[in-house]
Amino acid sequence: MDKLFSIKMRASAAGKHVSGAEKIVPESALPACSDALLKRALLHAKGKPDFVNVKCEEVAPEEILRLKSLPVSTLPAASPEEGLASMETLLRDLGVPDPHAVVRVLLEFCQGMRGAILLDVDSMERLEPDQARGVRATRMDDAQSAAKPFSTLKNHYAEAIVLATKVAHAPRILGEICISDDPDYATGYVASKRFGYVRIERLKPMGSPLGGRVFLYRGPKELVSETVEFLEKRHVLVEDVPELRRPLVRKSKWSRIESTLAELKEKNLHRSEIVLESAQSAHVVHQGRSLLMLASNDYLDLANEPCVRRAAADAALAFGSGSGGSRLTTGTLTLHRDLERLLADFKGADDAIVFDTGYMANVGTVSAVVGPDDVVFSDELNHASIIDGCRLSKAKIVVYRHNDMDDLERKIRENPCGSGLVVSDAVFSMDGDVVDLPRLVETANRHGLLSMIDEAHASGVLGAAGRGVVEHFGETCRPDILMGTLSKAFGSSGGFVCGSDPLVDFLRNKARSYIFSTSLSPADLAAAAAAVRFVMEHPERVRSLQRAVRVFCDALRVNGIDARSETPIIPIHVGDEARAVRISQRLFDQGILINAIRYPTVAKGSARLRAALMATHVDDDLRDAARAVADALSEIP
Ligand SMILES: *Cc1c(COP(=O)(O)O)cnc(C)c1O
Repeated sequence: MDKLFSIKMRASAAGKHVSGAEKIVPESALPACSDALLKRALLHAKGKPDFVNVKCEEVAPEEILRLKSLPVSTLPAASPEEGLASMETLLRDLGVPDPHAVVRVLLEFCQGMRGAILLDVDSMERLEPDQARGVRATRMDDAQSAAKPFSTLKNHYAEAIVLATKVAHAPRILGEICISDDPDYATGYVASKRFGYVRIERLKPMGSPLGGRVFLYRGPKELVSETVEFLEKRHVLVEDVPELRRPLVRKSKWSRIESTLAELKEKNLHRSEIVLESAQSAHVVHQGRSLLMLASNDYLDLANEPCVRRAAADAALAFGSGSGGSRLTTGTLTLHRDLERLLADFKGADDAIVFDTGYMANVGTVSAVVGPDDVVFSDELNHASIIDGCRLSKAKIVVYRHNDMDDLERKIRENPCGSGLVVSDAVFSMDGDVVDLPRLVETANRHGLLSMIDEAHASGVLGAAGRGVVEHFGETCRPDILMGTLSKAFGSSGGFVCGSDPLVDFLRNKARSYIFSTSLSPADLAAAAAAVRFVMEHPERVRSLQRAVRVFCDALRVNGIDARSETPIIPIHVGDEARAVRISQRLFDQGILINAIRYPTVAKGSARLRAALMATHVDDDLRDAARAVADALSEIP
């Protein structure tokens, strides 16, 4: 039989406890378990630890006491008063002479203690040897969790039952009372061999940090040390811990909506929209005021280009305002096929398929080309629409470090699969950097995986003729699936995928976002086609954009801001969410529209200004804006 090991993790920061856990696992599960505990320590919501101790010790099977889990039941309570009254009733039934006084001890004396109070229920004397720390019940685990692989997530509910089961079986312990000291929970329990684990729904007001636990002792004082020894030292495995479901608590139907909004506002993460009264262009109008637009994805200013607008208007007059159906029913017009042929030509592919949005192109494509048996290797900074497509596919998702092809290689080796996909943005939407396409394609091909690149910010942007990432790398390599959007540099709406004939045929039959949505309107299609044609005929517009990038980055550097980018997306690091918002607000007041990008779009604490340039920005405007950004950064705390 596999040897058993006790494994304990403790994590602290600046000497203060952050998290802790312990398990009893077979030797074979030890590496995975220590890995999971370490991850749990490092990712703890209470903060990053600077000290983590993971200790593994073999335990002899005969040293392990196996106990059957206490049965679990729940007592509803409409208010903390009602919950506390139930707790006292249970204590009285256990033979505790003064239940009210016992509950008062918990509420008044447990603050800040890591362990529990050990209380003589007859004399009301505290018996724990170290009253500041309390008595800690340790060295126990759920027997099932020891046998199966387990996650980094802590299951508080199961852990509470395991602990309560051990405590209830300690010599001379009548039972235990506990109230969660987490401000986000109002629950607690009374546990005893007699009644089992009785969870009480409400014992304190939400938001209160009050809480703690009291072990109820009845017996001679001389034997206390034996009880403490059992609680702290004896190894216990608890069997048949009941199904770890959160008991249902009925909430107001609006509670999720209201509490989410309140939380977003409190954390400076609530968003509102700026309403514009003009076409998208280098300058826009808001509340009658002109603003320099440094936040648009309309990089080539084609949404406002006369021939593009004219094409949209003409198509609306000739074909009507809506397409009237999904592509596979009645919604395919000559305009759809014309646009698809044009895109295939522009990208040098066999064929193309147009979706209603870039979001739908990603969701539909990824979820169609991989399934539950496959693995998707996805860059950690990929766009949300790729992530959603991965989730919808039910494939295993393996995230590799941003644009790190060595990590991609390692992750592919660690996750062998029959078939799979490597997927990445071409130009990362929040950082503006460019994927290492040659290595990505080479790696995917060598491992027999499909490769997919999202060119939302690359089409019309990268390459001398704006044809995208393949042109950028000198046509030396080509991914299997090239996705793009018509909503950014092409100034219209819609998404597309270019690739081989079988790929496109497959997507027309299998991509659900293509099949089950009404196709693009004539005006959108004609505008997109006119824009693609415009780019093919006017490569100088792409070069103007690339020039604007150089002018703006140079001006930022002259003003002491380290900025460099090969693309029109120029991130300017701020860090703190609230400060990023204040800076963007100041620039807005000065007539410059530049977005503050915050969590969850980027990681917490890495808020930034995201400047997005257009081909029609003039040098003087860019230099003035760079100076204003630098002033705001140095003046706003
Ligand atoms: C904007 C964007 C999309 C979605 O395109 P829409 O046409 O706006 O739906 C997809 N991927 C990336 C990288 C994007 O930036």
